[in-house]
Amino acid sequence: MGRVHNFCAGPAALPEVVLARARDELLDWQGQGASVMEVSHRSPAFEAVASSAEASLRRLLGITDDYAVLFQQGGASQQFAAVPLNLATDGDAADYLVTGQWSKKALAEGARFVEANLVADGQDDNYMSIPETECWSVKGGQYFHYCPNETIGGLEFGHVPEPDAPLVADMSSTLLSRPIDVSRFGVIYAGAQKNIGPAGLALVIVRRELLGRARDACPAMLNWEKAAANGSMYNTPPTFAIYLAGLVFEWLEALGGLSAMAAINQRKASRLYDLLDASAFYHNPVARSARSLMNVPFTLADSGLDATFLQEAESAGLMNLKGHRSVGGMRASIYNAVPEGAVEALCQFMDQFERRYG
Ligand SMILES: *Cc1c(COP(=O)(O)O)cnc(C)c1O
Repeated sequence: MGRVHNFCAGPAALPEVVLARARDELLDWQGQGASVMEVSHRSPAFEAVASSAEASLRRLLGITDDYAVLFQQGGASQQFAAVPLNLATDGDAADYLVTGQWSKKALAEGARFVEANLVADGQDDNYMSIPETECWSVKGGQYFHYCPNETIGGLEFGHVPEPDAPLVADMSSTLLSRPIDVSRFGVIYAGAQKNIGPAGLALVIVRRELLGRARDACPAMLNWEKAAANGSMYNTPPTFAIYLAGLVFEWLEALGGLSAMAAINQRKASRLYDLLDASAFYHNPVARSARSLMNVPFTLADSGLDATFLQEAESAGLMNLKGHRSVGGMRASIYNAVPEGAVEALCQFMDQFERRYG
């Protein structure tokens, strides 16, 4: 069997050229007679991998030296706890904006370590729109946390909030999909398995002046200052994941960087949303102004056809289109590594499916 069209929300598709290169180098990396997984993380060869991955990411996102770039373990969810442990002490407060399942989880975990204030909760609208800024109740505190792209609901911010406190963003499913202005954020973190690399790795981009605020009880492994001081090698880092992320960054640079990637992503998303909008058979429930570039949920007018849709899609090599268990329906995640051809194949399938069953 060849490669399928993979719309998985995460772990998601990786660029085929990156996988092919990793395969070619797997047994004998850089003439070492060993794989990159089998060499010391302190070796000059691996140090070069880690530093060039960081340099490449810095170029892609325009990250200045005012920010530390950290390769952490435990995925994005680990950062739900790391954020309050690094930025606040007992009794401190922080603001949390809830716009879907992930920001809700971040709040639940954060509230174990900080006085978490709920700024607004989009639940009344089933998380299909972003609560109006006029309705936010911002208390102020050590930081303001939000999730710019809710992976499950397919809800994405078109603007960056401007609280007085440092802005902390869970960018797991949007980082590297388009250019961003890093200087507007105190902390950006992202699990790797959407647009970056293998699951388990998390990227943290933190303004250096925010380092040094960790409480005593913060575990060493979650301490950003320690990670920064040790070049993300406080302990043995996930070397293969860092290597692969570096290859993904190189791939993005070769493609022309994030503006070029954003143009492709825009075309993919428009193709799919245009089809959904032109049809009474399919429906996207999210407010138009808040539609995600990366995660496109949709329903069928007759949900009794869901199973047939998914089954026939799979037969056509269109995989992992089932919506998240909490929302049902379908979801197409169209991250960077999902080629335009895959979205075109999906749209043609959807057209034909509608003609047969609509
Ligand atoms: C996938 C995802 C997470 C969870 O990532 P893990 O690496 O599984 O912890 C958190 N937030 C968002 C926005 C995500 O898309």
